[in-house]
Amino acid sequence: VVVGIWMWRHSSEHMKWKGTGSTAHFQEIVLERCYNYTQLVQPELRDRDCQKIREAFRNAFISKDPCSATEEDYHPLMKLVNQTVPCDKAVFWSKTKELAHQYTKVQREMFTLEDTLLGYIADDLSWCSDAGSYEMNYQSCPHWKKDCSNNFVSVFWDLLSKRFAENACGLARVLLNGSISNAFDRKSTFGRVEVHNLNPMKVHTLQAWVIHDLGKLPSDSCSGSSINDLRWIIKQRNIKFTCQGTYSSVKFLQCVKKPEESSCR
Ligand code: NAD
Repeated sequence: VVVGIWMWRHSSEHMKWKGTGSTAHFQEIVLERCYNYTQLVQPELRDRDCQKIREAFRNAFISKDPCSATEEDYHPLMKLVNQTVPCDKAVFWSKTKELAHQYTKVQREMFTLEDTLLGYIADDLSWCSDAGSYEMNYQSCPHWKKDCSNNFVSVFWDLLSKRFAENACGLARVLLNGSISNAFDRKSTFGRVEVHNLNPMKVHTLQAWVIHDLGKLPSDSCSGSSINDLRWIIKQRNIKFTCQGTYSSVKFLQCVKKPEESSCR
């Protein structure tokens, strides 16, 4: 019986796609995160209508072909939220999600994309439906590499990332991973979307922090070729570029987790 159920669940009808299915209790999580954010985290947004936001989010993808997402699908949702980040406070990241979030959790006035309402609501969630179905697909969703790139999750993050970059002003920061061979990757969301949507009329400087794991030799640094690539792209766009290999605030965060490291003494 167990094998039979397994075979049935994995048959083509139920495992259409190669990505993980919609997150269980998606609607409830969206609503709960929305209230948490607007009432407790950023009360400046306390007038936002979380029921409407939940509904607009759902309407963006429900009953649609999960491989035909467009930016327009999300425009009603974007319009409802309409949030700006103060100048000098935007923090981009690539392959450094955990550390970037630990940093903004302490530096409360700084914002990663996931410290804005829509990023906060959607972080780590998965969602999709099927053409003509009023249900979400909890079994499987298109994988962005193995199935299709214009799935609803990828289009959502690309659009949100684009708008986050377009709205940045003053000094912008990016936290990059010096423990991998290409700290800057042109194919990442940061390299593909965010870098190209910084507005040179608004952003004067991009400051990169290339952080490597404690107790390991760095694999990439400010003088490496991937960062030179980034420096070139940014200068080409008439934005000043600075880079530092350590940043004491972030180093202290790393040391909280590994106080025994010799470099933390
Ligand atoms: P990254 O390579 O560390 O990727 C971040 C996460 O997004 C990973 O879980 C990755 O698997 C996923 N991802 C990347 N491209 C995707 C795509 N096309 N479709 C679906 N998932 C994808 O770093 P990155 O790609 O440079 O993205 C980080 C930057 O972009 C940040 O500055 C942030 O503002 C934004 N972003 C955030 C998320 C998120 O899940 N919170 C996702 C994409 C982009």
